[in-house]
Amino acid sequence: MKTQQTLSPTDTLEELIKWLLPEQANLQVDRLVFTPGELTLLVTSTQPVGRCPVCEKATRRIHSRYWRTLEDLPWGANRLRLRVHVRRFVCATASCPRKVFTERLGPLAEPSARRTDRLRDALLALGWAVGGEEGSRQGMVHHMPIGASTLLSLMRRHGERTFPTPRVLGVDDWFFQQDHPTGTILVDLERHQPVDLLLGSDEQVLSDWLRSHRGVQIISRDRGAGYRKASERAAPQVKQVLDRWHLLKNLGEVIQKTLAQQIDVLRQAGQQVKNHTQQTSFAPPESAQPDGQRRKPPRRKPSAPSPRRAWQMAMHQQVHELAAEGKTQAEIISRLHLHRQTVRKYLRMPTFVAHYCSPHPSSVEPYRAYLEARWHQGEVMIKTLWRELQGQGFTGSYKSVWTFLRHWPLPAGLTPTSSCSSVAALTRRGAPATPTPWRVKWLLLHKPEELKAKDAAYRQALLYLSPHLSSLSALGQDFVRLIRERQSEALLPWLERAKGCPYEELQRFAHGLEREFPAVQAALTEPWSTGQVEGQITRLKLLKRQMYGRANLDLLRLRVLHAA
Ligand SMILES: [Zn+2]
Repeated sequence: MKTQQTLSPTDTLEELIKWLLPEQANLQVDRLVFTPGELTLLVTSTQPVGRCPVCEKATRRIHSRYWRTLEDLPWGANRLRLRVHVRRFVCATASCPRKVFTERLGPLAEPSARRTDRLRDALLALGWAVGGEEGSRQGMVHHMPIGASTLLSLMRRHGERTFPTPRVLGVDDWFFQQDHPTGTILVDLERHQPVDLLLGSDEQVLSDWLRSHRGVQIISRDRGAGYRKASERAAPQVKQVLDRWHLLKNLGEVIQKTLAQQIDVLRQAGQQVKNHTQQTSFAPPESAQPDGQRRKPPRRKPSAPSPRRAWQMAMHQQVHELAAEGKTQAEIISRLHLHRQTVRKYLRMPTFVAHYCSPHPSSVEPYRAYLEARWHQGEVMIKTLWRELQGQGFTGSYKSVWTFLRHWPLPAGLTPTSSCSSVAALTRRGAPATPTPWRVKWLLLHKPEELKAKDAAYRQALLYLSPHLSSLSALGQDFVRLIRERQSEALLPWLERAKGCPYEELQRFAHGLEREFPAVQAALTEPWSTGQVEGQITRLKLLKRQMYGRANLDLLRLRVLHAA
């Protein structure tokens, strides 16, 4: 039950209250009323005159008075409500279209707002930090209750920020969502501040932005054609700088593609190393350091199974061991204390397949029946199955099909062979599989003396089988050094060499770089890069996840612009 007490302010109390109220609010305190958890201040505006919002002329002619209620910052654990006695004024200008207007409260609150400016700002700060839903929950905890949708509309109304046009602009694309896959983020590289988030990543999007923001002098970008054309057409005077990291990434992709075309040679080299490890031709050079001091190629480690998964796998194994010993189902059940269904399920499963429940079912799930049928017909090439699904309108990636199928046991009678390489590689756990183009690229981009003996031997075997690859290796290493050490004078000779190399992919890469030579050159002479932009994209992804992946672009944009 609420009890109510009314106090008349003494001088000291009035002083305290004034001190707690917003500064320059021009309020005279009349009453303080409090109920548990809530304080109400009855105040009167003391502004001497009213100023017409249309003609801006001051007037003292009062039309009428009314009460306005404003929510303010809480006092301790109490919500604070201001009941302000305000006036309506009659405009002093006869010709003014506004005859009567309400009193403006200046720095206290906006016209017709239900919250004081300082409460609004506190709520907005919450919104920018944690979003609408969580902001609403936090507001409740901190005695500033607000609904999530009200907070969101407050953020939309007050969130627009304008920035001066950057002199040095970093631009990159980012993944938005299924319907609008890509967006463009623009970052002021000098101020370390994202300045805009645009939908789409094509030429038009950036051109439009550049046309309405004159004054950019330098653009740092990746090698995508969209941004290049946009910069050339909408702002031809702007100096373009390619990003060094993206250049190295592109080179890596080129080498990987080239190697993928020679997968048989890669496999053969692996086989030779295996067969001839004892032979001197593949022995490590004598000057070699002990293995411990050498660099190891990075490996994509399979993630460790969760305790639950590990337990399931152990149980699956024990069920099969007991069955192999001739134990009946009932005996296995009583021995392992498992449910009857579980034991049956494990017995049907030659290899353990986890049926984990993902909150987002795989996009491949609708095709399960088709895949099962094909699998049992013996089609275990994941790439082939992926192509077949594409023929049926599947739009997901190869990776999603691979993830879906990777734990499926091979059909009976089928042994892992090179005809099902992806599965074969997975079933031969621990055995050294053919190095992937990705891994071989890494081996080629390092000097033999930097590698472990086993890797150096593989590298040597590979170059022995395909001598041209040493030119690919040398060109790759030189390009990495050229970029890292910013040797701009070495660029032109490198391009000439690359254009004359026997690998078509690399030739194309060189021709492409030549076409935008000034931008590549600038990558080596200018300090700018899109590294900062990548950082902003990471932050953006974090915000997007916080918004449960269903972020509207406008809100996401505002939050990104406020987060920095
Ligand atoms: Zn007026």
